[in-house]
Amino acid sequence: MRKIITTLLLTTAVSAGAATQIQCERLIDGVSDNVLGPHTISVMDNRITGVSKGIINGDAGDRIVNLSGKTCMPGLMDMHVHITSEVSPTRFAERFRLDPQDQALASVPYALRTLMAGFTTVRDLGSSNNLAISLRNAVNQGSVKGPRIYTAGKSLATTGGHADPTNGVNSELRGDPGPKDGVVNSVEDARKAVRQRYKEGADLIKITATGGVLSQASNGQNAQFTEEELRAIVSIARDYNFKVAAHAHGAEGMKRAIRAGIDSVEHGTFMDDEAMKLMKKHGTTYVPTIIAGKFVAEKASIDGYFSELVRPKAREIGPQIQDTFARAYRSGVKIAFGTDTGVSAHGDNWKEFVYMVEAGMPAMEAIQSATVGGAELLGVSDKLGSLEAGKLADIVAVNGNPVEDISMMGQMKFVMKDGVIYRN
Ligand SMILES: [Zn+2]
Repeated sequence: MRKIITTLLLTTAVSAGAATQIQCERLIDGVSDNVLGPHTISVMDNRITGVSKGIINGDAGDRIVNLSGKTCMPGLMDMHVHITSEVSPTRFAERFRLDPQDQALASVPYALRTLMAGFTTVRDLGSSNNLAISLRNAVNQGSVKGPRIYTAGKSLATTGGHADPTNGVNSELRGDPGPKDGVVNSVEDARKAVRQRYKEGADLIKITATGGVLSQASNGQNAQFTEEELRAIVSIARDYNFKVAAHAHGAEGMKRAIRAGIDSVEHGTFMDDEAMKLMKKHGTTYVPTIIAGKFVAEKASIDGYFSELVRPKAREIGPQIQDTFARAYRSGVKIAFGTDTGVSAHGDNWKEFVYMVEAGMPAMEAIQSATVGGAELLGVSDKLGSLEAGKLADIVAVNGNPVEDISMMGQMKFVMKDGVIYRN
């Protein structure tokens, strides 16, 4: 009798929806440190139901995806993008010419390019008008094709600091933005600014712990929050289960943020030995964004690309990040993949892998930093980051073997997100 019931249940399960069998010549599963041989990943609905050695055809009626010559891996995760914008010489002026709805529509192809490049999950670290929140919702509803987005909404800054929305604006339009607009100058403001992000539907908090390159302000490195303000942000963020990402170039602002308990240092350009020690002590993750540094350094050589306020900062900060990454990696700081894409072009995210390997990180570790590493930083390791039964079916495949040639990460051939195939 028991046997009959089991058979019946099995029949029901199969007829409810055919499985997909993804046949991979090689497998990077996010768990093993080695590239594995031929494997078949079984997917039902939006979940991985099994990962089996060898090439398996499954039951009659199963959909077969033949990825011979390719390497399968978990959907890639970029922990630092700006999914709704892209840097150009006219970007500053566009804020005054374009309406938010123009910018929102312009971001639709950015989301598609990101997904087609194999990045099935991104962490958006700041957009104006909460565009990334709307884009996230549109992707989740299925009306826009894009990666799974976790967004900070508006970044938090201090008056005149990196991400004060009215930097560089004339006195008639400048106004005096406050916590509602993401500008914080006290513990009280910090509390309100975090709660405002919650109200607006953000998934995490982003702060600008130091000056930055692309803001219309002279200092790209100075500390811009007091430690007291930073502690207030982190403690309120915890009430809402928010992680806190801290943009930082200079060491002092970085250290204040690490001591205050933030979860990740973004860019980390002038990270010194003490900062690295503190990060290891507090379990802080480093998100390097080497490609953004290289991009701004290159564009700084073009007259008129950046304002004369931004240009010297791009020249000084940009070329440093790859060396900092190399030192941080050697010292054992935890690293998660992130590009600051939106500075560089959407869809070029994979180039960061090449820069990481060039700086001394083994290719497998670079890939893991964009799979298990990203999932850990986001706090979603239970459902993403590796190819294991029970996880969400975010599966991508590139040509060849990327551990032998990391530039293969730019040859994305198959993209499945949440069980749906977007590229094959
Ligand atoms: Zn950024």
